[in-house]
Amino acid sequence: MSTVGSTVMPCPKCTSVTPPSTVTAATWTVALVGNPNAGKTSVFNALTGQEQHVGNWPGKTVAYQEGLWPGPGFAVRVVDLPGTYSLAALSPEERLARDALLTMPFDAVLNVVDASHLGRHLYLTAEVLELGLPTFVVLNMWDVARREGIRLDVAQLEALLGVPVVPTVARDPRGTALLQERLGQWLRQGPQPGRAPRYPARIEQAAAEVQALLHDALPDLPPARLRGLALKMLEGQTDLLAVLLPPEQAAALTAQVQARVAAYRREWDEDPALLVADARYGWVQGVLRATVTARGPARFALSQAVDRVVTHRWLGLPLFFLVMLFVFHLVVNVADPFITWTEGLFQGPIRHALLWLLHQVHAPYGVRALLVDGVLAGVGSMMTFLPGLTLLYLFLAWLEDSGYMARVAFVMDRAMRVFGLHGKAFLPLLLGLGCNVPAVYATRTLERHRDRLVTALVIPFVSCSARLPVYLIFGLAFFGAATVWVVWGLYLLGLVVALASAWVLQRVLLPAEAPTPFVLELPPYHWPNGRVIGRQVRRRVWAFVTQAGTVIVGISMLLWLLMNLPWGVRDPADSYFGRVSQALAPALEPLGFGRWEAAGALVTGMIAKEVVVSTMGQIYLGERQTDAAALGPPTAADWQADLHHLGPGLWATLRAAARQLLGRDAPAFVGATAASDGRLAAALRQNFSPAAALAFVVFVLLYVPCMATLAAQYHEFGLRWAALGLVYQIGVAWGLAWVTYHIAQGVGL
Ligand code: GDP
Ligand code: MG
Repeated sequence: MSTVGSTVMPCPKCTSVTPPSTVTAATWTVALVGNPNAGKTSVFNALTGQEQHVGNWPGKTVAYQEGLWPGPGFAVRVVDLPGTYSLAALSPEERLARDALLTMPFDAVLNVVDASHLGRHLYLTAEVLELGLPTFVVLNMWDVARREGIRLDVAQLEALLGVPVVPTVARDPRGTALLQERLGQWLRQGPQPGRAPRYPARIEQAAAEVQALLHDALPDLPPARLRGLALKMLEGQTDLLAVLLPPEQAAALTAQVQARVAAYRREWDEDPALLVADARYGWVQGVLRATVTARGPARFALSQAVDRVVTHRWLGLPLFFLVMLFVFHLVVNVADPFITWTEGLFQGPIRHALLWLLHQVHAPYGVRALLVDGVLAGVGSMMTFLPGLTLLYLFLAWLEDSGYMARVAFVMDRAMRVFGLHGKAFLPLLLGLGCNVPAVYATRTLERHRDRLVTALVIPFVSCSARLPVYLIFGLAFFGAATVWVVWGLYLLGLVVALASAWVLQRVLLPAEAPTPFVLELPPYHWPNGRVIGRQVRRRVWAFVTQAGTVIVGISMLLWLLMNLPWGVRDPADSYFGRVSQALAPALEPLGFGRWEAAGALVTGMIAKEVVVSTMGQIYLGERQTDAAALGPPTAADWQADLHHLGPGLWATLRAAARQLLGRDAPAFVGATAASDGRLAAALRQNFSPAAALAFVVFVLLYVPCMATLAAQYHEFGLRWAALGLVYQIGVAWGLAWVTYHIAQGVGL
């Protein structure tokens, strides 16, 4: 065996690295990459039979060593790169390793990792996989890991990384036999790149955009490598361009890329480099969670301790449901008194101000009726839920930003598998709690078309925040203190139906297919950032308000018209709208709410679920449109009442919310301020039995989500699937509402 050792001292300032060339007659060149003290030099020595210096401190290999390994039947040149914790290019060694990997013509990378400190070592592995280089993972220090009681599922690790992973004990001559065998085999077969980690959507999107910029300058590089480079750019390593391109071209592109990255920093209000690092760290934690079966001695870290509880096999899921119960407890209790107060705000001060204005401009009766009874009643009944919704948005954003939601996906993974869904698919489902539309688009983060399709088709069953007003108004009108349980139960039901539907869709509609391995990220916990949460809540509240200001105003006006045509109709049931709704009502008869009002609200609710409430507001509260006196200018007594409402009334409402939160009062029983005493609630109690009310909210939960969600499904998957989903949703809603109605009747509601 003829091996030649050589040492090439690199200059730290060099931007391009010339491959050492003292070894000839080798067909393949492989690089040894790993953290300091991973055992690279030991592996190198075992392969090449050399005696390079090994020692236990960082930074000892500051030069390349290279030698020949005759293993696979032909000579392979092995290059030992300096140890590095990452390819962040912070130190000269890291920089050298990074530049060498990107510029030297290596055929493959041997990534040496320490099995007893996998958490720290896999970060570099993520970076190597990102670069799309053929990679072979040497799971070194296997003896140490065993001794410490660490157990790893190596086959699972191979599946997740998409590359060979071989346990070794590099300092023991016998400890690399398996490595030599598998490595030789792998090289003879033609080494392949592994599975590059996928990161959260906004990072992927930004990377794709930067990748497009890079593509023009580096058209020869494969897309996987370009994506890896783009991620490096997001990390601020634009100096890399100087390594890869001639100076002028590099300078121009650097400026362009830096401007783009600066734009992301402004947009996200966070350093893209930190976000990328967080994403990688999350990936590493996910890999660990999926492959480490026993951890060995406890290395205490708070986040690990928390994770042990929140991602526990049996505790995790109940804990999540408790968290949601707590959230709904807060939302319902705060929302309850505010619903009545806001209702009063729209029927008092705002209505009076509008009437006064209309009086000043001498608006004719028809216009006054349209604006006051049509638009204001519709918009007003919807806005009453803004306080509660804001609170829900706040909690969701908080749970998301703290890192808890990613854990929930983790916990759900096992349950999801039972239903044939990808564990990762739970994140879009969770997003659906806010709004189904972005949730449908978020399915893009799933790798397989099949998973995307199934997830997007079941997302409508996840109860978005627009449905909460319907639950609240019905819950508080009929079930008082039990409203929290009703709301919670509806959210659970939505989830269960979504999962069950996924199972059905997979079984019935799609051909069987083996699941792909994937990594669920566990991003680091952090105390949620107030600005990030603020921005998210603002955006969602604004979306809700503009929805009220555009769609709802439009629908309210149209509805008002249809409810008053033919002109002069006394009973809205005889109006055009009433007649169409009446024609539909018999189909709802078996569900307990075969009334035209309910049918009408459900028809308009297809446009957006909030409209169910605003339509009911119009139907039940707008009936005074025939009463011309009620549309006259406000009196002094009206204004006085308004002042009282804005002052002491608000104060009483705040106190009521606080008392309910603290459990001093049961919700909905606090006299004058509870939503149960609102006029809409009273009207509902007259028109629905409790069993019918329950069936109605179940129907609202499950039937057509809204036009925008259907449009998103159509956009992503085409007409056929969107239409199929629509029919399926209505069928499921009808069926389960029927079951609910009969069970509720059975138990005497
Ligand atoms: P490098 O910094 O990655 O080049 O790591 P070295 O090859 O210099 O090894 C660092 C230390 O770990 C040395 O003391 C090695 O003897 C020791 N070592 C390397 N591989 C193993 C192994 O598989 N098991 C154990 N117990 N020690 C190892
Ligand atoms: Mg070394």
